[in-house]
Amino acid sequence: MPKKLEQIYEGKAKILYRTDDPDLVIQYFKDDATAFNAQKKGTIADKGVMNNALSTTIFEYLGQHGVPTHFVKKLSDREMLSKKVAIVPVEVVVRNVLAGSLAKKLGRAEGEKLSHPVVELYYKDDALGDPMVNSDHVLAFGWATKDELDAITEYALKVDVLLTELFARHGIRLVDFKLEFGRHKGEIILADEFSPDTSRLWDMATGEKMDKDRFRRDLGKIEESYREVVRRICGA
Ligand code: UDP
Repeated sequence: MPKKLEQIYEGKAKILYRTDDPDLVIQYFKDDATAFNAQKKGTIADKGVMNNALSTTIFEYLGQHGVPTHFVKKLSDREMLSKKVAIVPVEVVVRNVLAGSLAKKLGRAEGEKLSHPVVELYYKDDALGDPMVNSDHVLAFGWATKDELDAITEYALKVDVLLTELFARHGIRLVDFKLEFGRHKGEIILADEFSPDTSRLWDMATGEKMDKDRFRRDLGKIEESYREVVRRICGA
């Protein structure tokens, strides 16, 4: 078992630790929650435990269905052993239903089904507020090569098909989500996390939000909603 060494990096929701294996890192999931580019801050009780449970289950599932990920092993309630990657500085959002920033930008109501999945790219830079970019920007600034961007887009759409079906089986509508990819030994693999912090999940029966919009919009029942997603997807 790799030994946990010093902290490499602390982000908004996770801490990354080095291990005695140069190819492996440990992701520690915190309870801290932020929204609106960290202008709103708070904590969600046990969020780290729930997001680790969900991310490990989902990454394992994606790995079994042909999407390579950084996931190696769940180490504890809050810790995931992962392959060390160099993160591609591009956040990939996939949308199936109109919501959030796109609904606002277009002045349309949330909930409209999109007839085709929409892939959006954002340059990962907190100081700039993660500006939206297109594939030409990614290539022109060298954030990824053409082959890498093709792989990223193909995996993002495959994740969408696989997870839309997985969540639907548990009565949850996958509205949209954000992915991050990294390079490991020359290959593009899915990294970071998949959780209600980084996706929109609506109960198919009631339409209730089961994701971070409950925190962003002060809707209450935040922990309960995250817990219900974990209960349905991880069976715990
Ligand atoms: N998202 C994320 N991190 C970000 C921005 C967006 O995880 O920095 C996720 C968000 O939770 C949602 C999807 O990406 O599931 C689309 O977000 P949107 O562009 O609508 O932005 P938001 O409404 O979150 O500002």
